[in-house]
Amino acid sequence: MMAVPKSHPRYESLKKRELIIKGVKEGLVAEAGLIAHGRGEAFDYLMGERTLPSGHRASLAAAALLVTAKHPVISVNGNTAVLAAEDLILLSEMIGAPLEINLFYRTEERIAGLTKYLEERGANNVLGANPDKQIPGIDHARSLCCDEGIFSADVILVPLEDGDRAKALVDMGKKTIVIDINPMSRSSRTATITIADELTRAIPLLIQNLEGLKDKNEADIMKMLADFDNLDNLKRTEQEISENLS
Ligand code: ATP
Ligand code: MG
Repeated sequence: MMAVPKSHPRYESLKKRELIIKGVKEGLVAEAGLIAHGRGEAFDYLMGERTLPSGHRASLAAAALLVTAKHPVISVNGNTAVLAAEDLILLSEMIGAPLEINLFYRTEERIAGLTKYLEERGANNVLGANPDKQIPGIDHARSLCCDEGIFSADVILVPLEDGDRAKALVDMGKKTIVIDINPMSRSSRTATITIADELTRAIPLLIQNLEGLKDKNEADIMKMLADFDNLDNLKRTEQEISENLS
């Protein structure tokens, strides 16, 4: 594949595309992942390829929710792994959350490939290869999950999740943090907290915000959570996008 020169004005965007395409060729990303990525790019363009104020607010609230979690889990799919493996692993270590591979187009080869991909980059608690539970209300292949992971989690970080499954997790009583740059998607609208931002910006920012919470007490953290209203924040995202356009 042709390397993109760093001087190219669309360097960051093209580099991400190359990662996704390489992921498809290596069998880590489903073909539909290309289309999902393209939809994400379109929203990023509308945002001016930067984290909006509402994205910063959501990220702070998400950090607060993660520090209060007893059993947090990070759900990983092909797109998220190839775009942000290192940062996801760092986050997983910071909050003591396993990474659970959770695929919409589940194949055993892709699960094995992604497990290896994450482990080669330093992950030591990767779940998903041996699912022993099901998420209720979802058809079989898409419902598989692990008892020590998603099934018994109280807070789940679900970057780029399908709307149906994101809703099924909420119906199970889970608190969810969705990272989805589309503020109108079903995943975004059903989450406890939606970070409507591009994944590779959102994870490092979340890590930074978690660091920043170290000197906050429990009352401060509870207040941050109580003050956050997800649907209101998504409305702000839509307003910020339209302001960016005018
Ligand atoms: P839903 O199922 O929630 O109604 P959808 O069907 O529109 O949404 P999916 O294809 O299920 O979307 O999931 C892909 C979502 O991930 C899209 O909404 C897209 O905007 C978003 N997305 C893709 N790539 C990124 C990225 N790098 N960062 C953030 N969001 C992204
Ligand atoms: Mg969908």
